[in-house]
Order: sequence, then structure tokens, then C-alpha cells
Amino acid sequence: MSLLDKIKPGYDPATASYTVKEEPGPGERPRFRMSHSSNDLLKRCERKYQLSCCMPESDMDKVGMYADLPFGRAVGAGFQDYIKTGDLDHALFITLLEYTPLVEDPDTKQNRKFLERAFMAVESLAAKWDTLPYELLYIKGRPAIELGFKIILNDYGDYFCGFMDVGIWNRSKEQAGVVEVKTTGMNRDELDPLYKYSPQALGYSIMLDTVLAADVNNFETIYCISHLHRGEIWPESKVLTYQKTRLDRLNWIMMLMMDLERAISCYENNFWPQRWQECLAYNRKCQYFETCNMASWNEEQTTLDQEFGMPYNAGTDWEFEFTLADVFEAAT
Ligand code: SF4
Repeated sequence: MSLLDKIKPGYDPATASYTVKEEPGPGERPRFRMSHSSNDLLKRCERKYQLSCCMPESDMDKVGMYADLPFGRAVGAGFQDYIKTGDLDHALFITLLEYTPLVEDPDTKQNRKFLERAFMAVESLAAKWDTLPYELLYIKGRPAIELGFKIILNDYGDYFCGFMDVGIWNRSKEQAGVVEVKTTGMNRDELDPLYKYSPQALGYSIMLDTVLAADVNNFETIYCISHLHRGEIWPESKVLTYQKTRLDRLNWIMMLMMDLERAISCYENNFWPQRWQECLAYNRKCQYFETCNMASWNEEQTTLDQEFGMPYNAGTDWEFEFTLADVFEAAT
């Protein structure tokens, strides 16, 4: 049976709904909660993915947090606020609120990501935004910022979820799109290899078109990036857009199903490969470096809740819920 055939079981076109299994019972595997970041981690080191899924978020923060995360979050929140309000002072205030003292930790002093630079990044992105033919999209009367969605992948109830950064309307192309906001300290000018084939904006834009019931043959993914160059204090703002087609959408669905199969296979075999290439990714030692070889972690797997995914005990605040069959119909 091909992966695409697996999209259909349990799906009733008349009611456009799945007969989704009741919550997993004792002895059954939990449901998988997939997301862009957790699928990415799964492919880099399955063991790290498994341990992250077992670890309450508060503990994860203690062991795994570093300055890049709050910096990126602060810039993202500030820029989103500017898109919504058009008020730079307000946006900088939101940036400040999102920024955490962790960034000023002495261990991260060498880091180029500090509060003043977050302010500069938001200001620079805001100036760039004012030159673009985009405006904020409103869906059901709500600004399309951080809209949560869930796609039920099969009749077992495994699902993919995410939050779109910003939904926009492109005035010149008369087309809706999703903007992903990024920060990077990558020490090179050309950033296309970071984003061109990233499935993140692609997946979210498929969701947006499903929400809007749009029939789109060609569309683009959009990345608004604050690029922090070494040796320059003022970040450079870049907007990278990539044309995508229906084939890209189909490939995204195929990739999602393959990721799910891989996660289920690891779970059912209770074997999560350790990928040494990830131990020093981004020149940082993995937070599980001293512990990932402990067999006792495997027992955690048997005591988990009915859901397995990252972050552990994630929220369930979804504005939109679809089946993969709905998305498949809209995307192909
Ligand atoms: S230390 Fe290396 S092998 Fe172990 S979980 Fe982390 S990345 Fe994977």
C-alpha cells in the first residue's frame, strides 16, 4: 500500500470526516503529535527527539535553552506586533516583554543576540515591511497571526500541528500567503540554502489555502529574515520568496507521512538511533550528551500519556482542524 493510499482509510467523503479511533487504551501506542520542529529533530537524531518528548517543558528549558531561542522569539513577536499595529514603539515594547533575562546570562555574553540588537532587528524589519506589497490577512475577524491548526493524519488520530507566523494578502499578486519570520547569525551573504526547500512555510501555506478554500496552482513561500552579520551591529533585513507548485504540495504530504512512519517504527521497536552528527550541532553540545545512552530512558516510553510529541504536554489551542484528506483535496 502506498503512502498516499493510507490517507484515505476511515475517511468519509460525504461528511468529510474521519472515523477517528477513540483515545489509545492500555498497551496501545500513543498518538503522535507531529510539528515542523519536531519532525526536523526526528530526522537529525531520533534519540534526541525521543528524550525531548519525554521531558516536561520546564525541564527542557533548564537544560536546552540558549540565547538564540528567546532572541528569535522576541524579534518575531515584536515584528508581528508591528505588522498588526503599525506602531513601532508598541512593537519594541512587545519585543522587550518577550525577551527574557536568559539572553544576558554571562555564559552567552559572547553571543551576538542581545536585547538592543533585538530592537534593531525589529526596527529594520518594520522599515522593510513598509516597502512590501503585503497587508495582514484577517480570518473570521481575527488577525492571521499565530493561528493554530491541526491536521489529523489517519484514523488512529495521529496529527500534525503548527502555528502560522503571519498570514498576508499580496496586493500586487492578489494572492494570500504565509510569512515566516526568522533571525540568523549565519556568516554568509546568501541564505537561500537555509530556506528555499524548507517545508515550514510550504506546509503552513497549504494550510492557509485549505482555510480559505483557495484554488492555487502556483504560489510562493515568504521568509522575512533578520540577518545578523559578524562585525556589523545593525542587522540586515531580507525578504526571500520562492515559487512553489502543486507538486511541491504533494511532496510535502508525502514527506509528512514518511516522517510519521519513521516515528511509529522507532516507537514500536523501542529503538531510537543515536546520530552522532547532531551531538555538536551549531557548535553546541547536545543537552543529553551525558545521558542519552542510559537504557532507563526507554522505560519512560511505557509511562507516557496518550500523546507522544514535542514539546511534551503541548497545548491544544487550534483554531482550525482538518483531516489530511481535506488538505490533499485542496492541495492537488
Ligand atoms: S548526545 Fe548525540 S546521540 Fe545523544 S541524543 Fe544528543 S544528539 Fe543524539
